[in-house]
Amino acid sequence: MRVEVDRDRCCGAGMCTLTEPEVFDQSAEDGTVVLLTARPPRESWDGVEECVRLCPSQAISLADGGD
Ligand code: SF4
Repeated sequence: MRVEVDRDRCCGAGMCTLTEPEVFDQSAEDGTVVLLTARPPRESWDGVEECVRLCPSQAISLADGGD
């Protein structure tokens, strides 16, 4: 799994940070998403997929990273 975020779309709702704090953080400046790791460990995959569904801005997307 490879994670991508579009900070231009992000509205800073923070659902991703609450759901997967190991993968997502929020900027202290404007609250937009900060991607901590583009290749999260397998145990985080379900949570990351939930973040994709929960994000109100469709700012998180997944790419098949070949792993
Ligand atoms: S859930 Fe979406 S809109 Fe909210 S902080 Fe995360 S990426 Fe941004």
